[in-house]
Amino acid sequence: MQEEIVVGIDLGTTNTLACYMKKGKPELVRFPGSKKLLPSVLYVEKETGKIVVGEKAKKQGILDPLNRIRSSKTYMGDFAKTWTCYGKTFTPTEVAIEILQEVKEGIKRRTKCSDDAKISAVITVPAYFNSNQTDETRKAGEAAGFRVLQIITEPMAAAVAAVKELELNKKIFVVDLGGGTFDLSVLEADQANHSYRALDIDGDRHLGGDDFDELLYQHFLQIIEDDLGLDLSSQKASGLVENEYYSMTGRVHDAAEIAKIDLSEHSETEINISNLFTYNGKKYEFEYSLTRSEFDEICGELYEKIFSRIQHFVKRSHTFSLEDLETIILAGGSCYIPKIQQEMTNIFHQSVDTQMDRSTLVVIGACFVAEAESGGLEIQVQDVISHSLGVETVTPDSRLVLTKMLKKGEVYPCESKKL
Ligand code: ADP
Ligand code: MG
Repeated sequence: MQEEIVVGIDLGTTNTLACYMKKGKPELVRFPGSKKLLPSVLYVEKETGKIVVGEKAKKQGILDPLNRIRSSKTYMGDFAKTWTCYGKTFTPTEVAIEILQEVKEGIKRRTKCSDDAKISAVITVPAYFNSNQTDETRKAGEAAGFRVLQIITEPMAAAVAAVKELELNKKIFVVDLGGGTFDLSVLEADQANHSYRALDIDGDRHLGGDDFDELLYQHFLQIIEDDLGLDLSSQKASGLVENEYYSMTGRVHDAAEIAKIDLSEHSETEINISNLFTYNGKKYEFEYSLTRSEFDEICGELYEKIFSRIQHFVKRSHTFSLEDLETIILAGGSCYIPKIQQEMTNIFHQSVDTQMDRSTLVVIGACFVAEAESGGLEIQVQDVISHSLGVETVTPDSRLVLTKMLKKGEVYPCESKKL
């Protein structure tokens, strides 16, 4: 009989993870150099034309950012979007296929399965993905050689993992702040019946950890500009050679992300980038000390956006009130930022869960659902429609009118008829 491996995959904007059951417990797949996280980054090597994915691509891409692709998931389902790296062109779906193929190799290595083993997967997508985006994700999974059991939403997966861990039974609020996206969801769990139901979603598709990095990057650039009296806003304005300019932008961005992550644990961090570029015949070295309170000030507008979005959702949603919530679950790497964690307690008037690993909740939940799909566990998930669906008609005066048939927030599968 053909060997079958069952996995959950969190195909993230910034990082991708995979998880399978080992002796009844979820086991994360480890990837070369980056442990449990496979950076969702693709790079094409100039000399060989070889496509590289993961930690190696992330490292090589820092010095050559014009020929690496990151955060491609933001464009999933956009059929006009392509990237070209050293003559090779990729669509968002093709980037996802490359990442998923790398994931498959990691799974094979880790599980030591036979070469022709069937790998069945549950893959997660953001709650706001429309059917086009979900279809493209499924196609990418199949093209990479997986049997796609089901596509479920990320907050649903996070809720499944959290409920199993914390033995919850009521309404759960999930805040997921990743690298590029910000998702809010309310779900209801019924442990006795092993069922999970999404109640409402909100969020911002263009807000995440990358925005914190960008503000910090701009701040560092400004310091260098002031220091040297040099305009670094573009290669042309800087007068630096192309390679040097873009490797400078890549290295300063990378330093910004490292500093941000360090400030989640320490109240101060040192940034030191040697040999950043040559100016007036001298090698420039960037040295700076950044405190957490300075970081919070630089990122003030982002905090404001994040907190007001949550408050607005809490006010507008009819599906829950603050007293109904049994727990607030934080998911996504950016929820490690101390100010975000602190403010949750003020907004929700209750403590938030900080025990669980925010980077792995989604993939562990996906793994449980995959196990259930293949008969090893009992779990039922019901997601809601992320966008209203209907029929668009053109009026005699050329206006487009949408007649909604299924409203955003309805639980699917569902149907509607209109005569
Ligand atoms: P995605 O769901 O987009 O793939 P992740 O959940 O892996 O993303 O989160 C990635 C983001 O989290 C990145 O912007 C990264 O810099 C940030 N991040 C990871 N760890 C930390 C930390 N300890 N403190 C602050 N930000 C972090
Ligand atoms: Mg994520």
